[in-house]
Amino acid sequence: MRIVMLGAPGSGKGTQGERLALHHRIPKLSTGDALRAAVKAGTPLGLQAKATMEAGGLVANELVIGIVRERLAADDAARGFILDGFPRNAAQARTLDRLLDELGQPGISRVIHLLVDEDEIVNRLVVRGALQGRADDNEATIRARIAVYRAETAPLLDYYGERGLLVTIPGVGDVAAIFAQMLAASAAERDVAVAA
Ligand code: AMP
Repeated sequence: MRIVMLGAPGSGKGTQGERLALHHRIPKLSTGDALRAAVKAGTPLGLQAKATMEAGGLVANELVIGIVRERLAADDAARGFILDGFPRNAAQARTLDRLLDELGQPGISRVIHLLVDEDEIVNRLVVRGALQGRADDNEATIRARIAVYRAETAPLLDYYGERGLLVTIPGVGDVAAIFAQMLAASAAERDVAVAA
């Protein structure tokens, strides 16, 4: 089971992706978490990524792809994985396909899109910023990240939709009810579009 979580920042990809990973006993890889850890540890990768992350832009593809390549090659990812925050643009999506091929793994089995409207996203991120102190959860950066999502990441909905891999789930309301739909989506063999 090789799942990609797609959705705007604050749509719940991380939370729901984590639950799905625990349920299926497969690892979840969040490129955002990996980059934040690198920034905190002051590694060369972290130093290169820090300013871009604070501005809400996308970190250079080579840096992010390096993280993903290393993680997907690890033994525990052979049975499957959940990707949270990657791919985020067309070049990353194409690289992911190539990478799985190189690793002798089948392609992505399902792309789960959590759909949340923009006002709700901004509210959630402002609250998260206050609670968790994430440097990029301030209003100016939030707007920049949403704009980047629309321009760079949202086109991936078509990329995966055309291949019959996409399932869209409304990402608002009861967390357990959303998770139930995630489970159904991850188990489904065929393309399903849950009305948003
Ligand atoms: P996230 O936690 O997924 O919202 O990511 C936080 C920040 O890390 C993003 O705003 C980007 O600056 C950077 N980032 C995370 N994943 C990627 C990616 N796949 N490509 C480029 N930058 C990324």
